[in-house]
Amino acid sequence: MMQFILRYGELFLKGGNRPFFERCLVDGVRRVVRSLGGRVQRLHGRVVVEISDEHEVEVRERLAHVFGLMSFSRVTLVEPEIEALCVAAVAEAQGALQDWEGEGPRTFKVETRRSDKRFPMKSPDISRQVGTAVGRAIDLPVDLSHPELRVEVEIGSQRTFVTTRRYPGPGGLPEGSAGPVQLLLSGGIDSPVAGYLLAKRGCILLPTTFESPPYTGEDAREKVIDLCGQLARYAGPMRLRIMRFTEVQLEIQRRCPPRMAVVLYRRMMLRAAQRAAQMEGALAVATGDSLGQVASQTLENLSTISEVATLPILRPLVTFDKAETITLAGRIGTFDISIRPHVDCCSLFVPDHPEIHASSEAAQKAEAKLGDPDALAQEMVDTSEVVEIGDPYNKSTSSS
Ligand code: ATP
Ligand code: MG
Repeated sequence: MMQFILRYGELFLKGGNRPFFERCLVDGVRRVVRSLGGRVQRLHGRVVVEISDEHEVEVRERLAHVFGLMSFSRVTLVEPEIEALCVAAVAEAQGALQDWEGEGPRTFKVETRRSDKRFPMKSPDISRQVGTAVGRAIDLPVDLSHPELRVEVEIGSQRTFVTTRRYPGPGGLPEGSAGPVQLLLSGGIDSPVAGYLLAKRGCILLPTTFESPPYTGEDAREKVIDLCGQLARYAGPMRLRIMRFTEVQLEIQRRCPPRMAVVLYRRMMLRAAQRAAQMEGALAVATGDSLGQVASQTLENLSTISEVATLPILRPLVTFDKAETITLAGRIGTFDISIRPHVDCCSLFVPDHPEIHASSEAAQKAEAKLGDPDALAQEMVDTSEVVEIGDPYNKSTSSS
């Protein structure tokens, strides 16, 4: 068995919310290690994961995506006494040298944190004594300011450990700690990335997608389902709501100025998504919009689109360049799914030169031809389908 110590940010842990955030964090950790047989334990200010050695690579990969984690380390747990610390530190340092990639470190340093003041030595003295033992064993000089190998000793009231391996976590806030958000999810590159960033701030994702069969095909739906499957690694299982947009689009095409089509599509999507959000208790609606990226994303159009919603609209990518979004999409594994070719409903019946300064008045005037837009939106919600997206890390229990 091997042990990992997980560190999380302290900022969000202030006051009465602390137990809640810690529980969300532990739940998020449990979700990704459960199927590997990992055991999770909460100690004061730290979380410990115990897991069988064979899963080391996999568990590291998974923990690197657990939101709320600042960093984590594979550790050697020891008794809180100085001889044991020296022995463990030497073994850790020798192991680190063996696994070192490239030339090997030229300098090292021992760093001690002592939160258990019952330990009879002070941190600098511990570092010095452990450092002497390590230096003798690995024959390297100490560099206190820029060591290439860092040996960390931590003495807490509930556990004492040594580690040389610290891996970065993704940061953010623990899974689900912010509450549910209705995410407008297309098969494109942007909205899955927006979903990832929201999940990183603790949002529970309630994805909604619009499709227009027979103009959009089964492949478009598959794509969105696969995107949800990838997001579920980071955000947990979710339910994808699929709304049928065909009739609304045909109505808009028949009765409204073509230049206004995209703005009107977006307003209708937003109306329907907001209704679904209210039904499901979501506190906001989110999109993958980026300012000025396409015609519907000028400030004027965004404003004309947004006015149909009363819930806040979250747009995490608003300031992102496309290249930045693509980089992140690649890192989180949604890019390859997003670039599969498919017909997007928003490109249907759209002229080459859409309106880029749609005023609120113009949108309302065009919509007057549609009868009751709210009723149309409600109709989409009433006839929508829901697809369960299981947890990729817990396949057999995905329906729970
Ligand atoms: P994306 O890459 O997410 O599709 P985009 O930059 O291509 O975004 P648009 O296609 O104009 O821009 O869409 C803007 C936003 O509107 C999307 O990010 C998404 O939140 C929402 N949206 C667009 N099409 C759909 C759809 N078919 N279903 C659900 N939401 C959609
Ligand atoms: Mg798109």
